[in-house]
Amino acid sequence: MIRLVLAFVLAASGVWAEVRVDPARSVIRDGWWSLRVELGLSDIVPYRVFTLDQPRRLVLDFEGLDWANIAPDQMLEPGRATGLRFGALRPGWSRMVVDLDAPLAVTQAGMFSSDAGADLTVVLERVSAAEFAAKAGPPPDAGGAGLVSQVPDIAPADDTFVVVLDPGHGGIDPGANRDGVQEAEIMLDLAQEIAAALAQTGIRVELTRDTDNFVPLSARLTTARAAGADLFISLHADALDKDLAQGASVYTLARDGGDRAARRLVERHERGDLLAGVDLEGTEDRVANVLLDMARAKTGPAGQRFASDLVQQMRDRGVRLNARPLRQGRFVVLGAADFPAVLIEAGFLSNAQDRATLSTPQGRGPLVAAVAGAIRALAAQDAP
Ligand SMILES: [Zn+2]
Repeated sequence: MIRLVLAFVLAASGVWAEVRVDPARSVIRDGWWSLRVELGLSDIVPYRVFTLDQPRRLVLDFEGLDWANIAPDQMLEPGRATGLRFGALRPGWSRMVVDLDAPLAVTQAGMFSSDAGADLTVVLERVSAAEFAAKAGPPPDAGGAGLVSQVPDIAPADDTFVVVLDPGHGGIDPGANRDGVQEAEIMLDLAQEIAAALAQTGIRVELTRDTDNFVPLSARLTTARAAGADLFISLHADALDKDLAQGASVYTLARDGGDRAARRLVERHERGDLLAGVDLEGTEDRVANVLLDMARAKTGPAGQRFASDLVQQMRDRGVRLNARPLRQGRFVVLGAADFPAVLIEAGFLSNAQDRATLSTPQGRGPLVAAVAGAIRALAAQDAP
């Protein structure tokens, strides 16, 4: 569900005209258990949501939303939301602020397209004052968007180049599986082999998982941020019903939804979070991520350059490539704004030759060498 929201909202960025608020579909209502903010919009817009402390308030930022249609008292009902205002934040952006009379944290936030346009729902529930204070603050990666001042750096800058390798799936979510060859397992092997190939190069390698356990997508990005990643590489190998698809490809983040094949691939690789019941956990992180296309303007081109270099290295080393080795898709793990990221589709487990190649260390050797080579080249460029 949450991923759907992300896809919709991201897909909308860049193509908004005047989007209006419909008073008849908009309300802030305090229920017995939760406080709900509902906004009926004429179309999807990029947005983000967070809370601030002292005084406690809920903040929603929108791109391209026109508030001329509505007055605060048309939507604010009496309750723990005690005040409401909205207005321009900077050109193209507006902000809505809801004053909170109690420590209420966001437990759910999502925007969905509807017949009338789009509906945004934000649900807040009571937490302790300490918990509210701990959660409050603008999204950390909003700095590049220029919306928030005094955003602290997440990780201290240093000279060590850090690459975070992200073996797809794991634990309850095995990923693709053909003839006993399991995506989660061989992607972990692949990550460990790449890490070994980078030993003693001065490059720091971190893995988002180093055992067969389940790691939610948002946690993979959190790991990368905490490590101070300079580069993020997610590792997957898909399987299709037919065995026609073959060879490796490298994905970067698509600005739109990507083609149909890419969208189906995203679904297959990201099903794990749904299977494992990760629906609300990490919601705020993802909603925060949604708006950051502007910040991505910096890391996006770097990721694309890395992707083409990587494909060249694969070609040079005889890795069997897909007919279209450079591709784009809307993967959650490619959505971080603070480091370039690519997703390697190492091959297709549904294809007998790919499967045989990927299931042995010898078969994976050229791919490991290509990935390690491309990482070293980028790290060398990055060096002062
Ligand atoms: Zn996968």
